[in-house]
Amino acid sequence: MLNIVLFGPPGAGKGTQSQKLVDTFNLVHLSTGDIFRFNIKNETDLGKLAKSFIDKGNLVPDEVTINMLEAEVEKHPEAKGYIFDGFPRTTAQAQALDKFLESKGTSISMMLALMVDEEELTKRLLLRGKDSGRADDIDENIIRNRINVYNEQTAVAAEYYANQNKYHGIDGVGSIDEIFNRLKSIIVEQSH
Ligand code: AMP
Repeated sequence: MLNIVLFGPPGAGKGTQSQKLVDTFNLVHLSTGDIFRFNIKNETDLGKLAKSFIDKGNLVPDEVTINMLEAEVEKHPEAKGYIFDGFPRTTAQAQALDKFLESKGTSISMMLALMVDEEELTKRLLLRGKDSGRADDIDENIIRNRINVYNEQTAVAAEYYANQNKYHGIDGVGSIDEIFNRLKSIIVEQSH
């Protein structure tokens, strides 16, 4: 199986690149952010709980997020592999994911980390907020908090994969196709 963690700060382009990777490598795309937003829209209990964290730009608690992610993986037993987009966001989530995948007889193949500087991220998120309808993309204070949360709680997850020799940093600035080609060459190179 090809199991990719697509990593990077908010606004790095994970969602955009996931779409292209799914089409090229025939993978199942699991975005915890998208799943939370789906639950919020449908006013589920999970959505109500998640909304209180997401609206402030904070992380949803690990236990809730991990349980949700595992349930989503279980829905796709036929998958040739997964793209984990926006998960894991803490070391505890990374550890839980390893344990879970091991129980399924598989593992993470690689982490691809999109690197974009903070000024560019803020610019992209404010622009996205104009038509994404995402409350957390409109307010600059919430955007700054999301970037801080990334720096303080999420960035360390990269070390977890670096320690397993699975970390690959990729320049996340350029055209969508340029960035996609950078990702693709690492996947191809690592899969041989
Ligand atoms: P995203 O669409 O990936 O930017 O996620 C939007 C929001 O959903 C984040 O700011 C968090 O509040 C929440 N979220 C998404 N993924 C996770 C995760 N793995 N752990 C905790 N919270 C998450």
